[in-house]
Amino acid sequence: MRLVLLGPPGIGKGTQAQNLSEHFGVLKISTGDILREAVREKTPLGKEAKSYMERGALVPDEVVIGIIRDRLKKPDSQKGFLLDGFPRTVPQAEALSKMLLGFGWGLDRVVHFVLDEEILIQRLSGRRSCSTCTAVYHTKYNPPKEENRCDLCGGPLIHREDDHPETIQKRLQVYKTQTQPLVHFYQKLGLLTEIESSGDIPTVFQNVLGFLSKKKV
Ligand code: AMP
Repeated sequence: MRLVLLGPPGIGKGTQAQNLSEHFGVLKISTGDILREAVREKTPLGKEAKSYMERGALVPDEVVIGIIRDRLKKPDSQKGFLLDGFPRTVPQAEALSKMLLGFGWGLDRVVHFVLDEEILIQRLSGRRSCSTCTAVYHTKYNPPKEENRCDLCGGPLIHREDDHPETIQKRLQVYKTQTQPLVHFYQKLGLLTEIESSGDIPTVFQNVLGFLSKKKV
């Protein structure tokens, strides 16, 4: 299985990616998680990415394309993967197509999560992430069992710097101008499936599963 998960920040892509990865036992590759880890570890990549991320801007294409290229070369990618947060621009999507062609692979599907913007803003402002294992929660829609503690690893939950109100507006704007054109890009290739995402997490998950089983992905 090779899937791209596409959708604006806050729509629950990360959570659905986690669920799908566990359900199918397939590798999840999240550029956001890789970059956040690099920032935490203060690696050269992290130092380069930090200021873009804090501003809600996109990290330059060549940097994230390099991350994905290195990741896809590792043996565990051979069995398939879910891409969460990549591609995010047309040049990234073109680079991905080329890379996959080089490996002799193709994408099975691009799942596009869609939702009304006001609900998105609410979801982003309540989002909390585990600073240890990156699991995602929401203060209202998906609270942890113990306040501010990750259910999976017990790590402390944080309110991401880029989930604060001014940065949220900026990230939505960046999504509209730079990532939205991918909808057309993948529609033209006949790969796009839209999943309406106003339901709760299990409902959206079942909709995705239902769709993938119909397509026999
Ligand atoms: P995410 O967790 O996917 O919302 O990503 C958090 C931040 O990481 C984004 O706001 C960008 O600054 C950066 N980032 C993640 N993926 C990409 C990508 N494919 N292209 C450029 N920047 C990215």
